[in-house]
Amino acid sequence: YQACELNVDTQMNLDEDAVRHLVTVLKSRVGDAIILFNGDGYDYRATITHVAKREAAVQVHEKALPANESPLDIHLFQAVARGDKMDWVIQKAVEMGVQSITPLFTVRTGVKLPEDRLRKKMAHWQKIIISACEQSGRSRLPTLRQAISLNELVQSDICWPHSIILDPHHGQSIMRLPQYTQYNIFVGPEGGFSDEESSMLRQQQCLSVQLGPRILRTETAGLAICSVLQAR
Ligand code: SAM
Repeated sequence: YQACELNVDTQMNLDEDAVRHLVTVLKSRVGDAIILFNGDGYDYRATITHVAKREAAVQVHEKALPANESPLDIHLFQAVARGDKMDWVIQKAVEMGVQSITPLFTVRTGVKLPEDRLRKKMAHWQKIIISACEQSGRSRLPTLRQAISLNELVQSDICWPHSIILDPHHGQSIMRLPQYTQYNIFVGPEGGFSDEESSMLRQQQCLSVQLGPRILRTETAGLAICSVLQAR
């Protein structure tokens, strides 16, 4: 992940992580073609001009718009899941092409994160997003929005159209959902949204959607709907 000004003909040294990946995983050599991830929505095709044990340099020769970004703008609002499940959700959401992820604290969220631990978690999740982009060949870095309580979010000025609350017990079938180009998806925690939270979201015009007859784990639900929405 370079995050710098890149253009055709830019020559640059790669950072430590990129060098390690080239040397130990890809066993790259001078002359090999690579695509640089800059997070700005472009593919930068480059050639390796120098590679040693701890350093590597490249020359960019093409800046192109990628063909692999999802045509849908999917924004995932995921209740913070326990243990390392949230890492998994974030990694899979990026692979599935979401545009943003907002970690949510809800009444039944079992995870309490004081400010300093939350800051470290956010930094950790940001790293997961970057490596999931690199692994899946995405060029646009999805946004990790500040973790927020559902109550606060509802009072903020988020744009609510086409919002969906995933509800295992009632709601329309995902197959009947109208086709939009943008979706905000709310996934509850292990214990689900409380009745008050569900009705608060419905008052914001959120549609309740059911993903079939079985109760999915919180880490499965977001992945499932991202997949179905893009397959319709
Ligand atoms: N005991 C909770 C309940 O009955 O609501 C189960 C919550 S489930 C483990 C976690 C979250 O995943 C839910 O709040 C919901 O957002 C989503 N979910 C799980 N299964 C679903 C389904 N079949 N349809 C829609 N959403 C589902």
